[in-house]
Amino acid sequence: MSRAKLLVIGGGGREHALAWKCAASPRVSEVLVAPGNAGTALEPRVRNLDVAADDVPGLVALAERERVGLTIIGPEGPLVLGIVDAFADRGLRCFGPRRAPSQLEGSKAFTKEFLRRHGIPTAGYATYTRDTFDAAWVRAQRTPIVVKASGLAAGKGVVIVDDAESAVATAQAMFAGQFGDAGREVVIEEFLPGEEVSFIIMADGRDVLPLATSQDHKRRDDGDHGPNTGGMGAYSPAPAVTPALHERIMREVIWPTIRGLAADGMPYTGFLYAGLMIAPDGTPNVLEFNCRFGDPETQPVLARLRSDLTELCDAALDSRLGGVGAEWDPRAALGVVLAAGGYPDEFRRGDAIDGLERAARLPGKVFHAGTRLRDGHVVTNGGRVLCAVGLGATVGEAQRDAYALVDAIHWRDMRFRHDIGYRAIARERAAGPAR
Ligand code: AMP
Repeated sequence: MSRAKLLVIGGGGREHALAWKCAASPRVSEVLVAPGNAGTALEPRVRNLDVAADDVPGLVALAERERVGLTIIGPEGPLVLGIVDAFADRGLRCFGPRRAPSQLEGSKAFTKEFLRRHGIPTAGYATYTRDTFDAAWVRAQRTPIVVKASGLAAGKGVVIVDDAESAVATAQAMFAGQFGDAGREVVIEEFLPGEEVSFIIMADGRDVLPLATSQDHKRRDDGDHGPNTGGMGAYSPAPAVTPALHERIMREVIWPTIRGLAADGMPYTGFLYAGLMIAPDGTPNVLEFNCRFGDPETQPVLARLRSDLTELCDAALDSRLGGVGAEWDPRAALGVVLAAGGYPDEFRRGDAIDGLERAARLPGKVFHAGTRLRDGHVVTNGGRVLCAVGLGATVGEAQRDAYALVDAIHWRDMRFRHDIGYRAIARERAAGPAR
């Protein structure tokens, strides 16, 4: 087979990791990234193109002009807009779910109804619009309670409140436009205690390939305190996902979801990310689905993937994922996100980043997220700026290498968590001395 050009859509840390991994494939002649970041601009065999990730017609034109053989979509925005349908209409191969099943991420109201209809475990809930809102129902619920804008709200549309009046006020603020259209429908659901885990698979419409387990840290500050963020770090494997839990998640969540979508006439091809709350009795309750690979989970997971990712995507597009397996580096990987001061609220852009050359000489890999090149120098250009990934025999050793990378890097107001992986490392310590 001749080598083909590959296109990655997006410009964050996940997309840098996807581009880096695909550029290592002997099946690929060149990796294009739209729009990319400074990390993809500097990566060998990778070229950025200045087309926005949600400019669907522009991306179709780009893929045709460059004769791209395979496109991988990073973020949810273009998926929910129907980019895979648009590519398929032009005969272009594109790995990701079509518009209809992307509602799993685009509409929490759709997802809750789907879960209920297919008997997949999830929190009890009600969905309201401004017109149907029933404050008396909300006041009759137990607290704490969770209020969610149904649509895409950049990770900000979920509010956990301790009393019913705050729940009513939060829902009304959402109806009033706090999250724009995303809050036209609001899901109000039971608060679930337990341990949160994420579970990521590839699907080909019918068959499933589970990826290596991973776990992220959503809160900004050490000890899982402070505001929610897009993710401050992640590691793989996640010891919380024992083989027994893995089996339960596949049986109770993943298979019924993939089969349910196929039965509903919207077969799912692409990465699928399930955010789960594991109840004290072991029930894997679905908190959310994302119709894409996680960020920052992608960075440590792909650092461990030995198989050729482009082969896995091609297998999925040809409906033969059931016949392939993935090979993983037995070592653990751990990524620490370096963020701009102020994130997840207001933050500055344009600060010069020092130490990237020093970090490049150390083991591990620094993936870029919110960065760009200014006069040949890498500067900050987003809230989450970099993700430093270390590998090691244990999560503890991977953590040591990741923080060695962090120590090499500096910019004004750089922020990061100091304890990424702490639960996994505590589990490792409880299990006995590390090798
Ligand atoms: P979501 O975007 O729906 O995953 O919600 C964002 C975060 O809010 C999750 O990662 C959880 O930490 C928390 N969360 C969401 N729903 C619930 C729930 N029903 N019970 C407890 N925590 C929740």
